[in-house]
Amino acid sequence: MLKLENVNKTYSEHQALKDINVTFNPKETTVIVGPSGSGKSTLLRSLNLLERPQTGLYTIDERTINFAEHIDTATTLWVRRKTGMVFQQPGMFNQLTILGNVIEAPIHVLKQKKDVAITEAHHLLEAVGIGETADRYPYQLSGGQTQRAAIARALAMHPSYLLLDEPTSALDPETEAQILRILKKMAEQNESMIIVTHNMDFARYAADRILFLEDGRIDFDGSPNDFFEHP
Ligand code: ADP
Ligand code: ADP
Repeated sequence: MLKLENVNKTYSEHQALKDINVTFNPKETTVIVGPSGSGKSTLLRSLNLLERPQTGLYTIDERTINFAEHIDTATTLWVRRKTGMVFQQPGMFNQLTILGNVIEAPIHVLKQKKDVAITEAHHLLEAVGIGETADRYPYQLSGGQTQRAAIARALAMHPSYLLLDEPTSALDPETEAQILRILKKMAEQNESMIIVTHNMDFARYAADRILFLEDGRIDFDGSPNDFFEHP
């Protein structure tokens, strides 16, 4: 479970998150929607500690972090491991093959045995439909293949939650649809995910839950049915 209580985040003058209270449940896919600048990305990045709210509490798997206090490096790394992040621009290691990218952190951070990591990486690449790219380098992949590789790389770390920040907004519509199909399938398999997207069809048909942000506040928190049928 991830829980934010009374969380506030200000960038110099601008208050991007205003008294956020929300709990994300395991095995649920939450889609965060809202106008540009409403704080979606800040909320998601706060869960990974890529942004540091000034005040509020963050509970993750029974451990509570007070944003107003110092957060030590070990805690930050622990939180980042629990909350795998997929960005709009995946940022692969260009000198490594796709397989190398996927096994890098499991071997060095999780201390997985290399053969175990390799076997799992092949499974994950198959699962996202790019098994044939394992020995290629990032520059040899299309945007959609790269984003699939980024999803496989995040899953290889066994995060408790997968966070995706506009994972398809750099892609053409056809490629976007492919990625969203993969994410929808993951949602059906009860992967715990929190996704920021502008794609309302995806929000409608793949989300268990919608959060609508407006000017730094949660304006709606409920089912897609209630969000789309009774606006
Ligand atoms: P969204 O993801 O909904 O577009 P963001 O979380 O990116 O919204 O941004 C929320 C608000 O905070 C916006 O007004 C944005 O300009 C501002 N903001 C985001 N990041 C920064 C930053 N690093 N420095 C200053 N202001 C920022
Ligand atoms: P998105 O809306 O897709 O989340 P943005 O264009 O709002 O992306 O932000 C892209 C990057 O720029 C983010 O890293 C964010 O932190 C930063 N940013 C956004 N608004 C500001 C701002 N007003 N001042 C400084 N940095 C900002």
